[in-house]
Amino acid sequence: MTTVVTAATAATGRTAGKLVVGNWKLHGSLAGNQALLGALIASPVLSAKGVHAAVCVPFPYLAQCQQVLAGQVLAYGAQDVSAETKGAFTGEVAAPMIAEFGAAYAIVGHSERRTYHAESDATVAAKTLRVLDAGMTPIVCVGETLAERESGDTNAVVTRQLNAVLDALTAELAARIVVAYEPVWAIGTGRTATSAQAQEVHAHLRALLRAKGEAVAAVHVLYGGSVKPDNAVELFSMPDVDGGLIGGAALKAEDFLAICEAGLPR
Ligand code: PEP
Repeated sequence: MTTVVTAATAATGRTAGKLVVGNWKLHGSLAGNQALLGALIASPVLSAKGVHAAVCVPFPYLAQCQQVLAGQVLAYGAQDVSAETKGAFTGEVAAPMIAEFGAAYAIVGHSERRTYHAESDATVAAKTLRVLDAGMTPIVCVGETLAERESGDTNAVVTRQLNAVLDALTAELAARIVVAYEPVWAIGTGRTATSAQAQEVHAHLRALLRAKGEAVAAVHVLYGGSVKPDNAVELFSMPDVDGGLIGGAALKAEDFLAICEAGLPR
């Protein structure tokens, strides 16, 4: 029997296994998506116990996901959401609209949004609330730039970013988020954090989450930044790395599936 991952079942906590989420960014076409999604759902890897997978697609392709992924274990979501719910906000897409298409997830605070769209910590916190209010799981991204790492500010930066979100949430709501640690210097650069570097920051994030309660400490903390089939096993073996947020490698079925397979219990 296959289990359908919905908004209600997606955030079951790290004990449910690794979570691997593809971020397609500004890529895709109806025909290309059909081939990619078809190859993903044809694989037995995604039905295996111990790993959950999702793809976060450009808004126009949510309808295609709803159609192609109906009844499948592969969940899907959006890459951003408006901080507003309705009104005169031209070009914005509200969380309830995304939820209407059956999406389980929405990424918030990706570094590309923070950098190119000047999103503040307060905006990311507001977006997180909108996603939760719509019954979906926000994937809250945090991460330092290279300059911040080199000046020894990594923990201070991710603390500021995560606490801005946690401070806006009750413990009950905070237990429904997913966190993604994505060092900005590792995104799309081919330069990955070592598993030790990732674990160090993940353990720090876990402590921040624990300060909000044990249920909050149990949320998935994903690593993102040039995860590939050849480094996923090592990264996923770290005790506080609960899966990955995958950019470039999510665009090739073979690579994404290999990364999902690396998330299986061993
Ligand atoms: C991302 O976009 O979230 C990401 C981690 O990209 P990449 O895997 O390509 O570094």
